Amino acid sequence: MSLVKITGLSKKFRDNVVLDSIDLDVKKGDVIAVIGPSGTGKSTLLRCIDMLEKPNKGLIEFGDFRFDVTSRNKKDIVALRQRVGMVFQTFNLFKQKTVLENVMEGLIVVKKVPKAEAEAKALQYLGKVGMLDRQQYYPRQLSGGQQQRVAIARALAMEPELLLLDEPTSALDPELVGEVLDTILKAAEAGNTMILVSHEMSFVRKVASRVIFLENGHILEDGTPRQVFENPQHSRTKEFLHKFY
Ligand code: ADP
Ligand code: MG
Repeated sequence: MSLVKITGLSKKFRDNVVLDSIDLDVKKGDVIAVIGPSGTGKSTLLRCIDMLEKPNKGLIEFGDFRFDVTSRNKKDIVALRQRVGMVFQTFNLFKQKTVLENVMEGLIVVKKVPKAEAEAKALQYLGKVGMLDRQQYYPRQLSGGQQQRVAIARALAMEPELLLLDEPTSALDPELVGEVLDTILKAAEAGNTMILVSHEMSFVRKVASRVIFLENGHILEDGTPRQVFENPQHSRTKEFLHKFY
């Protein structure tokens, strides 16, 4: 069952073509890992799906909801963003808000959930990432790993149909990576549909149902972790993977 269908997604910055008519079909429960060299358009792909970048062309469909990415209709963009959650490399928590307030914010402001209900839901999701005991802390009082777990709770609490994670562990000290990967694995096992950009290859092998190798605006490789890691079709993929093994 197709959850999201992306067709002909294209993005250029001036004459730098970063995404060249990308097609991507995401099934419910898929965990799609996007790998590829630095500067190849992985972040741009995620940011275009959430309209944080304005693509030049393409269609994003969630079932009957059809979004032409050239639309600048605010209502349509809000409707798209209601379906998509994003976790950033640098967490991007609200610094002046507590952990609990961070997770409640989107529920109240975007989803218009009554405050008591938002609080209950925020606590529920903080529990899932093991951060209940830090609910009154401010981001600066937390480690990077803890901040990222709060950011994941914040995204999940919105119950998005599709969760995008852009190198969620690359800003962390090595000893903090594991706790965040465990949190992502749990979210995957709970059935959340995700697109994950990551260089953590052993984690990608474990968590992904599908791996995409992106290079120069094209999907060069698209298969199960086994297919892509053990039997890549392109020499560029082999060269890239060799850097990790
Ligand atoms: P990746 O995430 O794979 O490292 P990015 O999506 O960040 O790659 O970047 C892809 C290309 O787009 C790079 O050449 C980068 O310089 C360019 N790019 C990204 N964002 C911008 C921007 N806001 N303005 C101009 N060029 C950009
Ligand atoms: Mg990036």
